[in-house]
Amino acid sequence: MKISKIETVLAQINTPAYVCEEALLEENLKLLKEVSERSGATILLALKGFAFKALAPLVDTYLSGCTCSGLHEAKFAKEFFKGSVCTYSPAYKEEDIDEVIALSEHLIFNSFNQWEKYKHKAMGKTSCGLRLNPEVSSSPVDLYNPCGLYSRLGITKENMQYDKLEGIEGLHFHALCEQDADALEAVLKGFEERFGELISRMKWINFGGGHHITREGYDVEKFITLIRDFRERHNDITVYLEPGEAVGWQTGPLVASVLDIVHNGMDIAILDISAEAHMPDTLAMPYRAQIRGAGELGEKPHVYRLGGPTCLAGDIMGDYTFDAPLHIGDKLIFEDMIHYTIVKNTTFNGVKLPDLAVLRKDGAYEVVSHFGYDEYKRRN
Ligand SMILES: *Cc1c(COP(=O)(O)O)cnc(C)c1O
Repeated sequence: MKISKIETVLAQINTPAYVCEEALLEENLKLLKEVSERSGATILLALKGFAFKALAPLVDTYLSGCTCSGLHEAKFAKEFFKGSVCTYSPAYKEEDIDEVIALSEHLIFNSFNQWEKYKHKAMGKTSCGLRLNPEVSSSPVDLYNPCGLYSRLGITKENMQYDKLEGIEGLHFHALCEQDADALEAVLKGFEERFGELISRMKWINFGGGHHITREGYDVEKFITLIRDFRERHNDITVYLEPGEAVGWQTGPLVASVLDIVHNGMDIAILDISAEAHMPDTLAMPYRAQIRGAGELGEKPHVYRLGGPTCLAGDIMGDYTFDAPLHIGDKLIFEDMIHYTIVKNTTFNGVKLPDLAVLRKDGAYEVVSHFGYDEYKRRN
């Protein structure tokens, strides 16, 4: 059980701020490194879910590099991280491809069109792979189901072109989202049924992300066994994993302040953070954010609807209950707001982007990025 120390620095926090707790991140990284050592898999951080450059040196001490979704993530990986760069994009642009090739140790293509288009540039300069669609997925939400109906992500068995594999050194799949080792087992079975005959011709297989390895209760032993057994079946082939969420999982909160309290049939607190702009998955997935010390309806005596400072009517975090009345200026700790928040946030409606801050292992609170009017101005 990870222990947050955020309350020791709460008074120092100028809200809004995403605060990554170094000690919590390191716990995740240690577990991932252990998985890597015991399974033999190479683990890359998927920048899509967690791109926090101030903590790149810590990530570097435990993981082997980054997985990137295109030119900008690949540039970011090379600039701030030390390990290798693996790039996969649903489609590369002609104007980007030379730079992407130069930056990437692994380059993964999503279709035979793309492979045919760029193979002459890429072969010999980077290790090329194809993303395959194992057509097995139990992803809970369509928005996050890479193997759903009509998915554009990865080549299905029906579209496999066996005569065009010359020069392909690796195969990739990504089929999971916040899932346990059982789900990987099902995907692996589907992958091997469809594409197993190709594996002996490859140098590496990339199992993608979505493995919720650092979540309490995740069956780490089963996961390690699945990878070891796979490698044994396939002549010790190199396996890559590219978790994003599992790296940033429960590594720190978004801290907000109450700006005002209004009444319209119920008490409504207006905060200096926005669900829409700063926690978009709470509306998109959707899910209910956890707030430290707050409860469900009926659990505690004081009920508030919490909303953002934008003019979007639906910019609502939900209804929460508290032990004591809220006051203007109170700080609220929205739990687990590091992964898939910072990478997705916007300046919608001109709202200020929260600071990026780190709670260091020695207890020091450090703001590492601060954003102002310029962010809004540049983007609009
Ligand atoms: C999103 C993504 C990942 C990371 O997924 P998580 O759910 O954050 O672990 C890895 N690989 C690919 C191709 C992705 O699209």
